[in-house]
Amino acid sequence: MTESQTRVAIVTGAGRGIGAAVAARLAADGMAVALLDLDESAAKQGAEAIGAGKAIGVGLDVSDAGQVEAAVTKVADELGPPTVLINNAGITRDNLLFKMSEEDWDSVINVHLRGSFLMTRAAQKYMTEQRFGRIVNLSSTSALGNRGQVNYSAAKAGMQGFTKTLAIELGKFGVTANAIAPGFIATDMTAATAERLGVGFEEFKAAAAQQIPVARVGTPDDIAHTVSFLVSEGAGFVSGQVIYVAGGPKD
Ligand code: NAP
Repeated sequence: MTESQTRVAIVTGAGRGIGAAVAARLAADGMAVALLDLDESAAKQGAEAIGAGKAIGVGLDVSDAGQVEAAVTKVADELGPPTVLINNAGITRDNLLFKMSEEDWDSVINVHLRGSFLMTRAAQKYMTEQRFGRIVNLSSTSALGNRGQVNYSAAKAGMQGFTKTLAIELGKFGVTANAIAPGFIATDMTAATAERLGVGFEEFKAAAAQQIPVARVGTPDDIAHTVSFLVSEGAGFVSGQVIYVAGGPKD
């Protein structure tokens, strides 16, 4: 029996990419996992792959308060009180500032920041009741600034301030909050960026790898392993941190 067998984890954006790898990793660690995603069928397929009784898939838009409350209540009813939350759901709507629409600004801010706020507000009551909680928020190296991503970089920098304040407010209840800021991770998100730039994905990855000290791009499993550590029982003194998982140092 692993130390975390009785823990219930929620992973948003778990239908594919980093979220899917995180959900599988936490299940392998012995947790019951709720996979939440805009794409309900992808979330349910991921849960089926993990195994009946160990995971459920739930469709929701994390930026919709009613859907968030309903989904978190469903998780608590079906799996037990969620005490681990991974705010991973994300989108990009890249453009240079002078061409960026208000809709593209609002949708990126809403999914990342409003979505993480709503999910965390809904889940925190279970964590404070249990006197245990682990929150991990997905930031990005883009928080440091990235051409064409004024909306996304603002959202990802916002995730860092959000994380630090959660750590301050919730620490006395046994709840930690940390952020992971990935560099280039090979997923549909980075494949879409390559397509938008008119570059083949293999060529795009090879060019990115040349700029990375460990000489390769990241994989969803690189992030999943970092999440696994941060949500472990033993990581209870690590809180309010931003961990850059980027194959090298970032300022
Ligand atoms: P991805 O492959 O595009 O997956 C994102 C997932 O989030 C998708 O399953 C998507 O659902 C879901 N999602 C989007 N909007 C949602 C909403 N409103 N409600 C619920 N689910 C929603 O992206 P990824 O590369 O795995 O990225 C995961 C996280 O890591 C994101 O926060 C991203 O910003 C961050 N990150 C990624 C990288 C990278 O290089 N890949 C680097 C730094 C940070 P649909 O399938 O329905 O669209």
